[in-house]
Amino acid sequence: MKNIGIFGGGQLAKMIALEGYQMGLNFNIYDKNEDACSKSLASKFYNYDFLDKDKIADFFNDNDVCTYEFENISPNFLKEYEYKIPQGVKALELLQDRYTEKNFINSLDDIKSVNFSLADDINFNTPYIIKSRRNGYDGKGQIFVEDNTEIDNKFLTKDYIAEQFLPGIQEYSVVIGRSINGEIAFYEPIHNVHKKGILYTSNFADNIGTNIKDKMISNAKKIITALEYNGVLCVEYFVKDGQIYVNEIAPRVHNSGHLTIEGANISQFKLHLLCILGMPLPVINCYHEYYMINVLGQDLKYMESMQNDKFFSKCYFHIYGKDSNETNRKVGHITFKNSDNLLERVKLNINGTV
Ligand code: ADP
Ligand code: MG
Repeated sequence: MKNIGIFGGGQLAKMIALEGYQMGLNFNIYDKNEDACSKSLASKFYNYDFLDKDKIADFFNDNDVCTYEFENISPNFLKEYEYKIPQGVKALELLQDRYTEKNFINSLDDIKSVNFSLADDINFNTPYIIKSRRNGYDGKGQIFVEDNTEIDNKFLTKDYIAEQFLPGIQEYSVVIGRSINGEIAFYEPIHNVHKKGILYTSNFADNIGTNIKDKMISNAKKIITALEYNGVLCVEYFVKDGQIYVNEIAPRVHNSGHLTIEGANISQFKLHLLCILGMPLPVINCYHEYYMINVLGQDLKYMESMQNDKFFSKCYFHIYGKDSNETNRKVGHITFKNSDNLLERVKLNINGTV
């Protein structure tokens, strides 16, 4: 039986392992949080810091293949074992810093991000968003600036970037997998609605033309190939006035891809495993009638009561079992076929970011 090691023990690791046990794989998980929600699925749980070089080395020795479900591990600690990490180290090096990430995006032929600069040298007008270069997620570490006089100087340094704010955008993502044997498979573009920087709903896009969809897919192929990346990754896009901008690239399975568990013939988690193990990739079918809605800490109690309500019996409930139900923390998601306006009824219970 193959031992797969996962760096990061959150819900993404949990959903990878849930798929993988059915494929006869075994999982070991590494996380610094002793209550990481995937812990119960780990044959061996490594509860050490991500700066513990010796423990990281032990983890590699214990596993046949390793994968990461979050971006913030030091590439230096992984380099020596790169032959065991199909995703590689290049993606981490480029993408864990928003500044190098955006430079990479704009270096690719016919692909662009919105205007950006280091925050100590802003060369465009308000409104813009200041974003921390490292460790941001779910809109954390971001400041919206409408008027230059209101910004605190402490953010105007090389540790931050400034990015032109684009009002009225639509957001999409393409989840794509590349196998160690070179095969590529992708899902159709997903339409994402965010509330205050946190993903609220996802469904396969029906509100844009084929040209834009094809371009987003071809961009994602170029990106995954340029990164020499094997596994599943996600490219997030902004679309405005027929223009496509790459927002960011997540070198891992992605929240919007949770839709694929029920909303496609293969989940992004299984696709990721097929890619890192070099198993054949299927042709992917996407089911447009499905919606995914994220459940944050404050709405977990409503989600639990929906599970006991016959009206919602056709919903698929995914509760991650996290150690706290903090406000605005992702603690679960629900997927369902949107017949009889179920989406509207679900939204009455699950409100997204407050
Ligand atoms: P995170 O790493 O937290 O996901 P993002 O850069 O993707 O950071 O920003 C989170 C969300 O904030 C985006 O999905 C989008 O809704 C909004 N946002 C970020 N940057 C911009 C921008 N330049 N213009 C308009 N909206 C933006
Ligand atoms: Mg994002």
